[in-house]
Amino acid sequence: MPRPIQAHINSSAIRHNYLVAKRFAASGANGAKAWAVVKANAYGHGLFRIANALRDVADGFALLEIEAAIALREAGFQHPILLMEGFFDAEDLAACIAYGFTACVHQMYQLQMIRKAQPAVPMPIYLKLNTGMNRLGFVPEQIPALRSELAQNPAIGSVTLMMHFAEADGERGIDWQVKEFAQMCTGLDHPVSMANSAAIINFPQTAHDWVRPGIMLYGSSPFADVSAKQLELTPVMTLTSRILAVQKIQPGERVGYGGTFVATRPTRVGIVACGYADGYPRHASTGTPILVNGVRTQTLGRVSMDMLACDLTDLPEADIGAPVVLWGEGLSADEVAAAAGTISYELFCALAPRVPVVEI
Ligand SMILES: *Cc1c(COP(=O)(O)O)cnc(C)c1O
Repeated sequence: MPRPIQAHINSSAIRHNYLVAKRFAASGANGAKAWAVVKANAYGHGLFRIANALRDVADGFALLEIEAAIALREAGFQHPILLMEGFFDAEDLAACIAYGFTACVHQMYQLQMIRKAQPAVPMPIYLKLNTGMNRLGFVPEQIPALRSELAQNPAIGSVTLMMHFAEADGERGIDWQVKEFAQMCTGLDHPVSMANSAAIINFPQTAHDWVRPGIMLYGSSPFADVSAKQLELTPVMTLTSRILAVQKIQPGERVGYGGTFVATRPTRVGIVACGYADGYPRHASTGTPILVNGVRTQTLGRVSMDMLACDLTDLPEADIGAPVVLWGEGLSADEVAAAAGTISYELFCALAPRVPVVEI
């Protein structure tokens, strides 16, 4: 019998969440199309699993690994595909042209590379403008040169102006970036793409012409203070396992490496077949929520590589073999992530290859 840990991926939930994203987007700006963001192996959920689930509804797929983009095309996905970090060399660019990808462009030399590549059909691009995130993109001083390059470069097809919000889930909000973007776009008459999940929900007025929902597709909230449930998002990944041993310890006895948990009462400790080598966050300390037999309890002590401990003292009927939910259905990954000082994006992306995946 294999180890009892499994990740269950719910493909109807991903379709539901995609339509929730479209609904938020439509509430602010009619007609917004949505890239389904499937970078990082669809946030750890499996690229093809997610792409297949969204095949009939997605307006397009956005990611940044070119091998994955090629694999999608070769599997028959004819949707628009956006490479959000663009191309890295001439070979990548040739693949973009051959497979009909849209690429982000954030440096002037990339426009010249496209010209030199002489594509048979002008290539669609996303021009990335740096409005304050300060990772990628053209800055205001480059706009005049950019404008003249676009005017005389026959290899460039449709242009979309793109920016990325740094704090759509935070205090500074978006106005400062929207203002900068509007200024930079003056005289450039093209469709735009601005919003990630946080902006789609909080600022749907930014949701034209193409939005880029990521985390919300996977059923998590982009906000620390609003739950996925409140946003009508459904968890897509549920990580389950079972209790494989039960220990009874007395006050003063400890659990796990470093003995960081010390019992203050007679305690029944359940040992769960799940550890950090499965992708469970090692920084989840005592008190992290966990479901046993569908009932909420808490983890005890340090997470080890293959196991973690939980408190069964108040769950006398929970014994060896009892089902455990680490996150997902019934226990939001956002809560577990918060207890580990991280975000659910990281939990999902860290799901280990050794965990068997079951599609439901
Ligand atoms: C990852 C990414 C997104 C999606 O962000 P979420 O917060 O997951 O919605 C959108 N745009 C760009 C450029 C990204 O890299």
